[in-house]
Amino acid sequence: MNTIRVAIDGPSGAGKSTLARAAAADLGFLYVDTGAIYRTVGLSARNRAVDPGDEVAMAKILPSLQVELRYDGTGQQRMYLNGQDVSEEIRLPEISRYASAVSALPVVRAYLMETQRELARKHNVVMDGRDIGTVVLPDAEVKIFLTASARVRAERRCRELEGRGTPQPFEEVLRDIEDRDFRDTHREAAPLRKAAEATLLDTSAMDFQRSLEALLEIIRERTGL
Ligand code: C5P
Repeated sequence: MNTIRVAIDGPSGAGKSTLARAAAADLGFLYVDTGAIYRTVGLSARNRAVDPGDEVAMAKILPSLQVELRYDGTGQQRMYLNGQDVSEEIRLPEISRYASAVSALPVVRAYLMETQRELARKHNVVMDGRDIGTVVLPDAEVKIFLTASARVRAERRCRELEGRGTPQPFEEVLRDIEDRDFRDTHREAAPLRKAAEATLLDTSAMDFQRSLEALLEIIRERTGL
């Protein structure tokens, strides 16, 4: 069976995961949050007290890691590290920095590539990340670059952190987002950039419902669904 692949890339806090999850549910596709996979590897670096920017040290621990995606009864993606459910732990703000650091290492990106591609070979997917349309699924049927201004993204992230019970000051969140934007777009390995053929969707002035409608419209137009 030929699968349909929807690739959604964009910077942190653009609303990718919430929108991609909702779009996948609407279409009956599998939602794959690839950031969660990098977060899981980032968590393993922290747990083993390995410098997440040290490629040699990371290359050493990778073979002993078992990073798994599982889907629970409600279709929610859960992350497992060596058999343990780490889905909540990987959302800690500290782990964002570990994820960003390990994701800049070519050895980590290469290690996770097949996991991502295999999912897209087996299922119709909405997959979100930084390099899905450019590197992981370069021949995806639909490519979308989802973004919003840094301030709007920081406001949204603050609300999300508050909802999780781990609030952080706005200025700190904004700085964190700007730092990560810089690292994600300036790294050598698979930097965040819009694929030439990707449709740009800027949600700065859109609420969730309007963003979702715009996203589904692009997907339907491209796939004829
Ligand atoms: O999307 P999320 O913020 O959960 O991703 C965590 C980190 O993982 C990002 O800062 C980014 O550096 C990295 N990442 C990546 N490639 C992906 C998905 C995430 O480099 N496809």
